[in-house]
Amino acid sequence: SESCSPSGAIQDACCEYKTIEQVNWDIAPYLDELIQTSFFRYVKIDLNRGCNFWKEDHFCLQEGCAVETADESEIPENLRTKSLSSVDYSLTQDAGFPFLNKRCHFNENDFCVIDEPHVLNDIPYVNLLKNPERFTGYAGDSAARVWDAVYKENCFDAGEGDNDDSMGLGDLLKGMQNANDAGDMCVEKRVFYRLISGLHSSISTHICDKYLDQKTGKWYRNLDCFKERLGLHPDRIQNMYFTYVVLLRAIAKLAPYLESTSWYSSSLDREKIHKLVNGIVTTTVSCPPTFDESIMFTDETAASLKKEFKNHFRNISLIMDCVGCEKCRLWGKLQVTGLGTALKILFSFDNDASKYRLTRTELVSLINGFSRISDSLRAVERFRARIQDQEDIL
Ligand code: FAD
Repeated sequence: SESCSPSGAIQDACCEYKTIEQVNWDIAPYLDELIQTSFFRYVKIDLNRGCNFWKEDHFCLQEGCAVETADESEIPENLRTKSLSSVDYSLTQDAGFPFLNKRCHFNENDFCVIDEPHVLNDIPYVNLLKNPERFTGYAGDSAARVWDAVYKENCFDAGEGDNDDSMGLGDLLKGMQNANDAGDMCVEKRVFYRLISGLHSSISTHICDKYLDQKTGKWYRNLDCFKERLGLHPDRIQNMYFTYVVLLRAIAKLAPYLESTSWYSSSLDREKIHKLVNGIVTTTVSCPPTFDESIMFTDETAASLKKEFKNHFRNISLIMDCVGCEKCRLWGKLQVTGLGTALKILFSFDNDASKYRLTRTELVSLINGFSRISDSLRAVERFRARIQDQEDIL
């Protein structure tokens, strides 16, 4: 249980694990309710962009991988008819990504490659509550290849010059799993690695927390799965807390924008959303400092490093199109978009809240991504208590 109980200060952040656990308990009730509102439970994400990096036929045979789309009749009127995007699409460019097709693009400020509005008009909504992130059975070469490609994006030219494409996941991880000791690794690289490792940990936590016994068809909390994937790897749990902290900081920074946003939803939901968002914002801005983004991109390589950081994160958003299981692809894309949105809030608007412009998809992804990690942190506490119980008996 000790290895699942990180204590002291969170590295590269400016707060303690215990503080974050308490903040999470304070925010969670608002978050849990917020993601059930119509504004936040319906999302359009293009799941058919196709894999740009290798041949992936998306032929997943697992029953649990299918995504159930929402019927238009269940969508509130405002979401059906209004375009909620406030992004200036005239800034659209495709430099550096010659293979981008007409389904997606990115703007200078974006850390993710995002879906074209005309594509979103044509695809159905998905009700996230009806397609929960959990064990699907997706594994093997396809999943390993995606994770391998994601971690390879941690190789930057700028900085330490270790852009060795021939390295496999094993080699890379050997060097990076000890990111805590990697004093010689620049902070930007550590942050990049921790964010993706933290996201990976959160996905694994949900798989173990909602695991399917394929013989009985029963869902249960699989403690052995948790021990193997996370309990034995304290760094993975620590990275998950770190990812939470970065999202928390982005939400605190976004507070004025969140408070003044008019939520296009059913009128019943609108008032509720205002109240819940207010609860999250109040808790977030009143908690002690969490993450100081001003420590990043400060030296003479700042501009090129930031550009590379952005491009590598955009690549990760494209790699998500290579996930073979549709439901994993949905949640993978949503959570990467949520993280990319957080990075955009932290690094793209020159600390000027009046410049914030986010699409509805970005807002929904940010809040749902944050909610996923919030849920994972609580799951870690539950698993930890069960391990503690076992140790007490022994
Ligand atoms: P994997 O999780 O595939 O990990 C591969 C290797 O990465 C490990 O061997 C280890 O060396 C390293 N590693 C593992 N965790 C970390 C970490 N936190 N930090 C750093 N390194 C790490 N399956 C589902 O059942 N449901 C889902 O919703 C789901 N969503 C997915 C989303 C994406 C984007 C991807 C790529 C896969 C998803 N999968 C999902 C599959 C799942 O993540 C695993 O790949 C699968 O369960 C096989 O697990 P594994 O034990 O082989 O290790």
